[in-house]
Amino acid sequence: MSRTDYDIVVVGGGLGGAAFAVVMAKAGARVLVVERETHFQDRIRGEFMEPWGVAETRRLGIYDAIRSAANDNPFWQLYLSGMKLDRRDIVATTPHNSPNLAIYHLMLQELVLAEAAKAGAEVRRGAKVCEVKPGNPPAVAIESKGRVEELSPRLVVGADGRSSMARKWCGFATKREPDRYYIAGLLFEQMSAPEDTAIGAYNPTIGQVGFLFPQGDGRVRAYDVYPIDADFRLQGENSTDRFVAEALNSGVPPEYYKSARASGPLASFISADHWVESPYRDGVVLIGDAASASDPIFGQGLSLTCRDVRVLTDFLRENQDWAEACRAYAQAHDQYFTILREADNCLREILVDRGPEADARRARALPRVAQGIAQMPDQGFCGPDKPFDEGRIAAAYSATISADGRSRPGRFPKSATTRSTSCRRWNSFRYIWFNRTTTQ
Ligand SMILES: Cc1cc2nc3c(=O)[nH]c(=O)nc-3n(C[C@H](O)[C@H](O)[C@H](O)COP(=O)(O)OP(=O)(O)OC[C@H]3O[C@@H](n4cnc5c(N)ncnc54)[C@H](O)[C@@H]3O)c2cc1C
Repeated sequence: MSRTDYDIVVVGGGLGGAAFAVVMAKAGARVLVVERETHFQDRIRGEFMEPWGVAETRRLGIYDAIRSAANDNPFWQLYLSGMKLDRRDIVATTPHNSPNLAIYHLMLQELVLAEAAKAGAEVRRGAKVCEVKPGNPPAVAIESKGRVEELSPRLVVGADGRSSMARKWCGFATKREPDRYYIAGLLFEQMSAPEDTAIGAYNPTIGQVGFLFPQGDGRVRAYDVYPIDADFRLQGENSTDRFVAEALNSGVPPEYYKSARASGPLASFISADHWVESPYRDGVVLIGDAASASDPIFGQGLSLTCRDVRVLTDFLRENQDWAEACRAYAQAHDQYFTILREADNCLREILVDRGPEADARRARALPRVAQGIAQMPDQGFCGPDKPFDEGRIAAAYSATISADGRSRPGRFPKSATTRSTSCRRWNSFRYIWFNRTTTQ
């Protein structure tokens, strides 16, 4: 018989909801996770976790559980307009000294949700949350086998993904970047790409990108990015040949696809970031994609979801006043998400966008990028805490303008409380990157 006196009800048992339940159940909270799927399916989601996200999984205590099903991608190979750049050693050149992890998403979900149950959370699968009402306490209605049950926990956590209904029911306003690109995903077996190297092939002439994320034993998650005004749409199994053709147009080496066999669904998604500002109100807090679905072109979503869980659970465990804890999380979330969004926009403008303005920006930026990929904004691999004053990026680009009008190296603050300053510095960085007409 299940209990009804929960401290926390979590809407959604994806990575965010399940990881949150692991930490809070271990801390002694009575947690219920409601997940509508009885068996997870391939929804074409994130399968490439960057080193800063891997570091977050260690802090959350879920790393060992997912590691067993993941493949290390310690190298990153960038192709730009058909040109092969230096292969980057991600372990040696990022602060967390960790490889990227490639993992089949539904396996990731199963493993973390199993950890939540092991930690003492109650997990109800095949049950659906059909309403959430903010309040003191908040209310949540759960539908299962034709019966609706109403609960009033201390806290409701909306972890129900990019189309979150918890977000809508509770009246959170959603902001979004303009729709610019689609991202399509398809799983391949028997691909002959190197198993230790993630590949990103960017072709800004046509505004397209092809990614390969090897999961081991010839299995590779591939994504194609293409503009919203393209005269094709990659959708359904009839588009498989076109998917491969567009990957090659982006610059993915054809030999990798030669013996590959498509396996699983093919679908396209609009990639634009969408997010809420201050993802907490009256007993309801949003995490993961429900709070901010970051543009998948830059593969930050899994890491950001783990960051949300870590920051929120840190505050909840430190502070008996959960409303105050959730407000502190919401404030921190706004700050680190803004940094990631700005960094992603910067990379998009350099590597993906088409047109004369984008070409002019590239003409200024690419001579530096050609010196090595360490010259790129690096939040993707390093996370939102990456100090800009470390390394050559700082020396070359990351300058802030002081009161006397002279530039000096920018510095990212270390604590979450001062991150709004880092946003201002990041904007200075963008200004300098894009608007300088002479190279230093
Ligand atoms: C095409 C694409 C490619 C991506 N690639 C990458 C990548 O390479 N790297 C990366 O880091 N990120 C990537 N992402 C983003 C990443 O997948 C997400 O950020 C991550 O999955 C978010 O996890 P989540 O737990 O917040 O949401 P989800 O994974 O969406 O989980 C939400 C869960 O809630 C459940 N649910 C929803 N509504 C209800 C309800 N009413 N009642 C009960 N349960 C409910 C769902 O069944 C689901 O299990 C990609 C996203 C897309 C769309």
